[in-house]
Amino acid sequence: MDKQWYQSLAEESMGGQLLSQETCLQLLTDSRIELLSLLDAAYAVRKHFHGREVTVHIINNVSNGRCSEDCNYCPQSKGSSAEIVAYTEKTEQEIVAEAKQAYAAGAHRYCMVYAGRRPSRQRTERIATLVKTIKAQYPIEVCVSAGIMDAASTRLLKEAGLDRLNHNLNTAAGRYGKICSTHTFADRLNTLKAARKAGLEICSGIIAGMGETAGELIELALMLRDLEAKSIPINFLLPIAGNRLKNVQNLSPGYCLRILCLFRFLNPQAEIRTAAGREYHLRSMEVMSLYPANSLFMDGYLNTRGKSRKDTLQMISDAGFTIKSDISAEELLLHETADAGDDDRAIPDLKSDADLHPARN
Ligand code: SF4
Repeated sequence: MDKQWYQSLAEESMGGQLLSQETCLQLLTDSRIELLSLLDAAYAVRKHFHGREVTVHIINNVSNGRCSEDCNYCPQSKGSSAEIVAYTEKTEQEIVAEAKQAYAAGAHRYCMVYAGRRPSRQRTERIATLVKTIKAQYPIEVCVSAGIMDAASTRLLKEAGLDRLNHNLNTAAGRYGKICSTHTFADRLNTLKAARKAGLEICSGIIAGMGETAGELIELALMLRDLEAKSIPINFLLPIAGNRLKNVQNLSPGYCLRILCLFRFLNPQAEIRTAAGREYHLRSMEVMSLYPANSLFMDGYLNTRGKSRKDTLQMISDAGFTIKSDISAEELLLHETADAGDDDRAIPDLKSDADLHPARN
């Protein structure tokens, strides 16, 4: 592949053209690909639409565990014996206090996540009230992930001022039955369509490493393009003790970066997020993920801890990126003295009670 080949990837993507199926496959599988040249092309697209900004998201597990669904990759699922801290639902006071903390930590977006198949009417109303309260008090974007939702629920949340609804596609339609039997790929798709119809932005991503083929990754990237997903979290499956899904694919850092580049080229304007598994699978190449991706999670993921706040901000700052916040990464770093990072990534740590309730500490 010559210089022109890489350059045309960026030009076609920025011009709104679709890369051919053959090119997409090459991008993921061809051993002649030079990783730095590929990242450079993806960075041209990222820079064109998002500059050097990184959008930081902080997840809040509003409810945790005891889920009726059997998603086999999830420690909160009914078939998992992972030793998570389970609880039903935090109080409004705790959730709002944690939104305040997230804003002060430099988060651009606060993601409230509820375990479960679908929220009841009462829970949806509580979420709507929370969204109104948080939006009235802090200049932070709010995203909710609460399972399957219909037109009435998504409308209610839109009216309350919700910015985005998250519902991940996770894996390709043809593979969905292998990872979950209690709901379908169509259920997920219908929720996203309802959210779009209600005027909500869509956040929907994938989990790579569950045995999917390169073709299935391309299919997912194209589907998210058709859905006009504003935000695409790319998770890399973590081996969590107790989970029913045992065979975690060996994802090399290079392959993870290729996946991020693929999603960037096919979704040039979307917020591409390097999500769970960033530290574990990308290892020493972690910072390179910011070339195709323009977003990341700080303070861990849905079920596992991540790099410390200090190390995450330092990585962004060291690589010459800025964060999308009223407070700069450098300013935030002045207050981050303790390094709570854990370099032993052989087994990802589950979040502790203190991680799950930051406002109590
Ligand atoms: S992914 Fe969501 S729906 Fe599936 S088991 Fe986990 S919490 Fe429940």
